[in-house]
Amino acid sequence: MDVSSHDVVVLGGGPAGSVTASLLARAGADVALLERAHFPRYHLGESLAPRSLAVLDELGLRDRLDARYLRKYGVRIMDCRTGRQQRYDYSEAGHGEALHAWQVPRADFDQQLLLRARELTVKVFEGHTAEDVLFEAGRATGVRARLEDGTRVGFTARFIVDATGHDALLATRLGHRAPVPGIERTAVMAHHQHVTRNTDDTEGDLDAVLFPHGWVWNVPFLGDVNSVGAVCSATWMRARARGESLDHFFTRTLDDAPLARAMLSPATRLTPVRAVTDYAHRAAVRAGPGWLLVGDAAGFFDPLFCAGTHLAIAGAAEAARTLLRCLAQPDDEASLLERHAALMERAMSLYQGLSQALHAGDLTEAFFEARTRSARQPLASVFAGDVFGEDPPWRAALRARFPTK
Ligand SMILES: Cc1cc2nc3c(=O)[nH]c(=O)nc-3n(C[C@H](O)[C@H](O)[C@H](O)COP(=O)(O)OP(=O)(O)OC[C@H]3O[C@@H](n4cnc5c(N)ncnc54)[C@H](O)[C@@H]3O)c2cc1C
Repeated sequence: MDVSSHDVVVLGGGPAGSVTASLLARAGADVALLERAHFPRYHLGESLAPRSLAVLDELGLRDRLDARYLRKYGVRIMDCRTGRQQRYDYSEAGHGEALHAWQVPRADFDQQLLLRARELTVKVFEGHTAEDVLFEAGRATGVRARLEDGTRVGFTARFIVDATGHDALLATRLGHRAPVPGIERTAVMAHHQHVTRNTDDTEGDLDAVLFPHGWVWNVPFLGDVNSVGAVCSATWMRARARGESLDHFFTRTLDDAPLARAMLSPATRLTPVRAVTDYAHRAAVRAGPGWLLVGDAAGFFDPLFCAGTHLAIAGAAEAARTLLRCLAQPDDEASLLERHAALMERAMSLYQGLSQALHAGDLTEAFFEARTRSARQPLASVFAGDVFGEDPPWRAALRARFPTK
């Protein structure tokens, strides 16, 4: 088996993997990235959070991405049961800055990030499936990968970063992967054309429509294509008739969300309807000797807060900073990894508590009771991605009201 050696080997070329690898390589590390697929490839997770953009800026991607994607200035929550609507503008996030994010077709977005990783000297290997992480005396030291023709190749490194997303290769192998109580959900989705749009700055908003079976997202892209999906309860999924096509079931689901159906009434479906089930999970341990989890490989809860891409992108920046220090000060590795894990835990637990509250129905009043900008500031800040660092009072209050379960 051919074996090559690097400072860091990153598994997975989604946002978490690309960004970690890019930042490490830009700082001079020798980085290899293994990606199972060949890009571009379809992926979920199309609505970004504004606070991720600072990291994309750091990678020199701002102008390139701004030209490709629709700007998103806020999130509109609607409730089919009461007809209430509430818009959270990112400018309400409390820092007085004009913030925006982007709505991104992920096949293209992920390809742009991987391209940037190559430009920054990351050695990218597509069509390489990591099969196992190899340990010596309790330390991760290498990876065995399978090529499409069945050939095996080996990689050794001072650090292995698992960014394999929902597959969570390392957490699964080490028995650390666990479901998240209260978020056993299935999402059903497709891209649509000719969805009714706003014609002002709110055109790029993420619409989230609460309805009896869960919630519906509407994510507009630049042009005339929207991603529409429904996050459905397990009870509702059991209402899918034997033999009923996913397409028919999706239409029937949207029929129960009149506010979403109204936007969709002139629309046509562009892609086959897909479903993804039981995606919420978390890894009980997220770092150890010679290894670190980034992005979905460490956990994911619910799409509403755009936490997935934010934890992947901003979490990757934190991971890269930590790994660079570990490479420079190997004796401090254990304490550096512990500090990183604690930082990520604080961000993830906030999203987890809010996601569990969303699905228990406990968040609905909080969404609509906020009548003033200052009352909207806490949730606007979470939508913006202000989840890292020491808790300001508003974040501590959200944690107390919506604890993890
Ligand atoms: C229904 C749904 C809707 C969502 N909507 C949103 C949203 O609107 N906004 C948001 O922020 N987030 C959303 N998310 C979450 C978002 O998709 C993820 O959080 C995000 O993609 C995580 O990025 P990542 O890089 O960690 O993982 P991924 O993007 O999944 O990348 C992982 C990569 O690893 C590769 N890989 C896997 N196994 C191996 C292996 N063994 N060897 C080599 N490569 C491997 C995969 O091919 C993939 O390219 C949604 C999730 C779901 C389930």
